[in-house]
Amino acid sequence: MPIQLLPISLANQIAAGEVIERPASVVKELIENSLDAGASELVIDIEKGGRRRMRIRDNGAGIAKDELPLALARHATSKITSLADLEAIQSLGFRGEALASISSVARLTLTSKPEQQNQAWRAWVEGRDMTAELAPASHPTGTTIDVEDLFFNTPARRKFLRTDKTEFAHIDELIKRIALSRYDVRITLNHNQKVIRQFPAVTQAQALTRITKVIGRSFSDAAMAIDCAHHDVRLWGWVVPPEACRHQADAQYFYVNGRMMRDRMLNHAIRQAYGDTLTDERSPTYVLYLELPATDVDVNVHPAKHEVRFHQARQMHDFVLQSVRRCLSDRVHPEASHSYQ
Ligand code: ADP
Ligand code: MG
Repeated sequence: MPIQLLPISLANQIAAGEVIERPASVVKELIENSLDAGASELVIDIEKGGRRRMRIRDNGAGIAKDELPLALARHATSKITSLADLEAIQSLGFRGEALASISSVARLTLTSKPEQQNQAWRAWVEGRDMTAELAPASHPTGTTIDVEDLFFNTPARRKFLRTDKTEFAHIDELIKRIALSRYDVRITLNHNQKVIRQFPAVTQAQALTRITKVIGRSFSDAAMAIDCAHHDVRLWGWVVPPEACRHQADAQYFYVNGRMMRDRMLNHAIRQAYGDTLTDERSPTYVLYLELPATDVDVNVHPAKHEVRFHQARQMHDFVLQSVRRCLSDRVHPEASHSYQ
């Protein structure tokens, strides 16, 4: 075969393969966009575990009519213009690929109105070259993205979707993780027209109220606050003493500069901080926030942005280990820890 450029829709479907694994990956990308747009309220409507529909409405800055085609195009972003921007990134997104990728594997429509524009507009893409179509619409300031029939045109991927229940469980878990990343954002999650979660906005000082709603009272009742700083790195949040830790590793929330992470190195540091105090196969249980200068961490490691790379990984590991260890040893009652040995 001669060398040819791939049709845009196919190139986008290939790119989608890296990021859009299941409905929850779509919801993650859309919510990150809403948060980047400064939204203080998110309403997420899911139908049939997300296979049928995922719709996210926000009250963020919106997208101007002229920019709607670009929002749907690949490699188009309002968030960075240079490598220096990427290295000091503050937004959750930067790849300019999510909307193009999702549009290539589902029926996506984008409806948006910036505050200064009188009329809302709706946009969607069609055909092999994914040309953007536009039509006037009605919408308050903000954006709604409606994604229907995920993987309708990629049967091989659709086969990997699990039951509605399982797919929705992934979305629900994601929403809990998002809820603990932004206490100030009001979040409503509906599934098949039923309200499943509702988190009113709270202040930082009321964080434990939201944590109770997300993880449960057993966490908040046992949680010990932690707040440690070393130069320009800070670790804060809550850890649970060993005797109150959960039997499942299902309450481990870790954020790096506001991004949710599952980082093996940091998991290891926390587990090491608990040492041999964890009995009965309990797992470390925590909600922790690591904050450091954006330039000390590389977020461009994986397309789905689940991982980061620290410039000083060893120091970060040791800082987390020592901070958590100190918190646990300060507060764990000596008799209590004794009785578990
Ligand atoms: P990225 O987030 O990496 O920039 P996306 O494909 O996710 O790429 O989004 C493309 C662009 O569309 C964003 O840079 C942003 O300008 C705009 N956009 C997407 N979603 C929203 C939203 N909910 N509100 C306002 N602007 C949005
Ligand atoms: Mg994005």
